[in-house]
Amino acid sequence: MLSVDEAVQHVLKHARAGAAVMCPLREALGLVLAEDVAADIDSPPYDKSVVDGYAVIAAEVAEQAELTVIEEIAAGAIPLERVVAGTATRIMTGAPIPSGADAVIMVEQTESLEGGPLGRVRLDGAVKAGQNIMRRAASMARGQKVLPAGRMLSPIEIGLLAEVGQAQLRAIPRPTVAVLVTGNELVKASQSPGPGQIRNSNGPMLAAAAEAAGATVVELGIGRDNRAELGELVGEGLKADMLIVSGGVSAGRYDLVPEVLQQSGVRQVFHKVHLKPGKPVWFGTKAGAADEKLVFGLPGNPVSSLVCFELFVRPAIGRLAGRGDTALSELEARLTIDHVSRGDRPTYHPARLTSDHGQQRVEPLRWQGSGDLRTLAEANSLACFPPGERAFRAGEAIRVLRLPRAD
Ligand code: AMP
Ligand code: MG
Repeated sequence: MLSVDEAVQHVLKHARAGAAVMCPLREALGLVLAEDVAADIDSPPYDKSVVDGYAVIAAEVAEQAELTVIEEIAAGAIPLERVVAGTATRIMTGAPIPSGADAVIMVEQTESLEGGPLGRVRLDGAVKAGQNIMRRAASMARGQKVLPAGRMLSPIEIGLLAEVGQAQLRAIPRPTVAVLVTGNELVKASQSPGPGQIRNSNGPMLAAAAEAAGATVVELGIGRDNRAELGELVGEGLKADMLIVSGGVSAGRYDLVPEVLQQSGVRQVFHKVHLKPGKPVWFGTKAGAADEKLVFGLPGNPVSSLVCFELFVRPAIGRLAGRGDTALSELEARLTIDHVSRGDRPTYHPARLTSDHGQQRVEPLRWQGSGDLRTLAEANSLACFPPGERAFRAGEAIRVLRLPRAD
C-alpha cells in the first residue's frame, strides 16, 4: 500500500496549473498572476506633497519667517505660480509641488496671518530641502516590473494592479471542483433523518473546504448507491476540472464508486493509502480535451473525508490554481499528556495545538474515530503517530499538521 507521501507525489504528478485567462481585477483576489506586470506610469507621477501645508524654498526661509501666500493647490489641481523668496503656496496632501519650491512645511507648524488676497503665513518649525516631498517615480518608474508572474494576488496586489492600470489581467483561473456525495442513508441538512438515515455532512464540508482552498465549487447533491444514478452524476462531475466523490470507496457490497468511475473512463492511479483515518481513499484521472481531470474518491466517514481532503485534495487544488506549496504546515510539538497510539497505520489524530512561551504543545483529543466530526471541530491540528502500539509520554516531541482554521 502507498504511503501518504507517495500518494501525494502521485497526485501532484497529475495536477497541472490551468491555462491563463484574462480576468477583471475585482475577480482576481486569490488567483495567481500569469505574467509579469510592469508599471505604465511613474508613481507618483510628479513631485508631490505628502502633507497639508505650505510649499517654500528651504534656503530662503528661516524659522519664524513670514511669507505671502501666492496660490492654493488642492489635490488634482495644477500649480501655475512659481514660488520665489518671500512667498509660499498653500498645498494639500497629494498635490504637485509648484516650481521653485523644494520643501513643504506642514500646516500644524504654521500660523495663518491676515494680508493679501490669500493671506500670509508664519512658519513655526525648521525647514529642510526635500522635506515632505515625495519625488516623481520614487515608488516606481514607468516600465519597471512591479509584480512577477506566479504571485498570488492579495488585496495589496489588487491595489497595486489598479495603480498601474491593470483593470484586466492574465491569471490562472480558479479550478472548478464538483462535489458528489453517495449513500442511500443520506438526507439533506434541512431534513430530519428517518430510521437508518443520517444527514449529509460531507457534501457541505467538502464543498466549503474546496472553496476555501481556492476552487469554484459545483455541488452535485446526493447520489444513491446504484450504478445508473452514480454513472450519470459522475458524468456531470467530469465536466469540472476535479471531481470529489464522498463515500462508496470501501469494501462493502454497495461501495460502487471505483467501479462506476472506471466505467466512466476514469483511470485508477491508486486505491488505498497507508493511513488512518482514510485508508480507502481512491484517486484517478481522465484525459480531457485540454487537460487531465482529477478524480478523488474519499471515504464516507466525515473525519476520514476531511483528513484525505487536507492531505491529498488541498495540494492538488493549489497546483491547479498555479500556487506553489499548499500542503498543510508541519511542525514539531511536545505532547501535553501521555498518549497510547495503537494504529496499524500512521495515524492522524485530531489534536489541539497551543503555543506556550514560543514552545509548541499538542494535546491529542479524546476522539471516537472517523465518524466523530464533533471532536474534530475542537481540533486545530492533526497529531501524527507512527504505526504500531506505543505509549507516548507527556513532553515527547511529535509531528503535527496544522489545520487551516481561524483559531
Ligand atoms: P462509506 O464510505 O460510504 O462506506 O461510508 C462510511 C461511513 O460514513 C458510513 O457510516 C456512512 O453512513 C458515513 N457517511 C457516508 N457519507 C456521508 C456523508 N456525506 N455525510 C456523513 N456521513 C457519511
Ligand atoms: Mg456509502
